[in-house]
Amino acid sequence: MCNHDHHEPTEIVDKETREILNRRKMIQALAAGGTVAVAGGLSGCATNPDTGASQLLLIGEGQLSQMAAQSWAQAKSKQKLTTDPRYLGRIKNIGGRIAKGARRDKQAWDYAVFDSDQKNAFVLPGNRVGFYKGMMDFADNDDQIAAIMGHEVGHVAGRHAAERVSTNMAGQMAVMGGTILAGSQMQKNCKKAQTRQEQSICYRKANRQTQLLNQALGVGFMVGIALPFSRKHESQSDLLGARYMQRSGYNPYQAVKLWEKMAEENPRRQPEFLSTHPNPSRRARDLHNYIKCQERAGSQGWGDETLKAALNACKA
Ligand SMILES: [Zn+2]
Repeated sequence: MCNHDHHEPTEIVDKETREILNRRKMIQALAAGGTVAVAGGLSGCATNPDTGASQLLLIGEGQLSQMAAQSWAQAKSKQKLTTDPRYLGRIKNIGGRIAKGARRDKQAWDYAVFDSDQKNAFVLPGNRVGFYKGMMDFADNDDQIAAIMGHEVGHVAGRHAAERVSTNMAGQMAVMGGTILAGSQMQKNCKKAQTRQEQSICYRKANRQTQLLNQALGVGFMVGIALPFSRKHESQSDLLGARYMQRSGYNPYQAVKLWEKMAEENPRRQPEFLSTHPNPSRRARDLHNYIKCQERAGSQGWGDETLKAALNACKA
């Protein structure tokens, strides 16, 4: 598997089944799943050119974008949109500049501003960026909006959605492989039963267990799109966002200011953005350290190297 720190696929299997399936078998099943994915023409492990992180990619961006098209259409039809140029025009302008800073201005981008007090923003596969009016009103200036825009574009560059969906798929393949293994193991155990009656009880139990496992599979991989990003992904997006800000002429320190401002908010009134994006103080500090380090590097700072290389250079 790739060098990433997601939870073990065994977590989605209940305790009783885990006793039947030992770890080695789970790994075998996962490996079998991975082989199926690769045989199906999918990519597997890759090093991300922007972050430098190794990631599991079992789905293409095009496919993912198609999957997200419906969610995007739904979001836009179910919620009130605004076309007020003070909002949508501003977002398009900032989005265009940040896309250029991210060297992604040749790609098509789609923006929407929702007419709601929610302090939130999101990005969907296929370069679809959604902002809520409340988030824009919360920001003190364009630079702070650019910080959020940069963060969302950072998720795109980091291919975070694809990685998350892929990890889910791998977990499901492990469950699938596990179900088959568990089923045959349980059947084998049933053969040892003394009487016919005991044997039929055993088979019934084995079938029920297999069904329960299959239900776990019912959680489709679309769920992966709705889940919050991991802290690692959030951190990568923050720093990439600061890089895009600097390149497109915004003040990256305003990203630090924005997170500090979020941290100061009354917990009851804290922006919705924080429910999926925790630890604002810590993020403000990490951003501050990163920006300082890039500035210290002088003409070598804010380069095109991977984020991983840039962070290693900061440590050295
Ligand atoms: Zn995020």
